[in-house]
Amino acid sequence: MNIRNNIDAVQNQLANKNCRLIAVSKTHSLESIREAYDAGQRIFGENKVQELIAKQAALPKDIEWHMIGHLQSNKAKQLVPFVSLIHSVDSFKLLEEINKQARKINRVVACLLQVHIATEETKFGFDESELIQLIQSRELTNLDSIKVRGLMGMATFTDNQDQVRAEFKGLKNLFDQIAAMTLPASVEMKELSMGMSQDYPIAVEEGSTLVRIGTALFGSR
Ligand SMILES: *Cc1c(COP(=O)(O)O)cnc(C)c1O
Repeated sequence: MNIRNNIDAVQNQLANKNCRLIAVSKTHSLESIREAYDAGQRIFGENKVQELIAKQAALPKDIEWHMIGHLQSNKAKQLVPFVSLIHSVDSFKLLEEINKQARKINRVVACLLQVHIATEETKFGFDESELIQLIQSRELTNLDSIKVRGLMGMATFTDNQDQVRAEFKGLKNLFDQIAAMTLPASVEMKELSMGMSQDYPIAVEEGSTLVRIGTALFGSR
């Protein structure tokens, strides 16, 4: 694996698009992350709190660490001091807990709300109506130590490109619909996190602003 070449190849696809690369470094070594860092990469994504914290402590402090995996409420406290963006907020309860922990340390933590767009049962996230209900609820206006910056979704794991495209299109439509609503101060629709190694070119065409790519940079896990 030539990590530098892999990053360049993805960056070429993102050229002239309003889309940033999150290098998903879960399970990969500090050495591999260092290689990506030396190639100019500054945003890394992890899906486990312990691993994110350990890597954060060992690597340069100008790295932005993004949490992309399912987060349990009881782990929010450990994560909140070190995370730049949490992509995977999938309940109001979790949002409240992040808010509580962030307030204690005087931070405002940026979050994305994860939307369930795949046909698979196992994926986490809000469905459309739950999400709209949450955005319109008064409870959200009381959270002053989080900022919802947009939405995240994962398409179905399939070779059917039409299906994947339709799922991304649906998420972009929902994003636009919410952006057009009157939003509480704690919500803005700026980021749309969609696209992984196997489907990111489609996601970028459909309006992604953050692609989360692991395998295509670092090899298989
Ligand atoms: C692992 C992971 C990715 C990256 O997947 P690749 O197929 O390796 O690019 C993206 N998003 C989430 C939520 C992940 O857990």
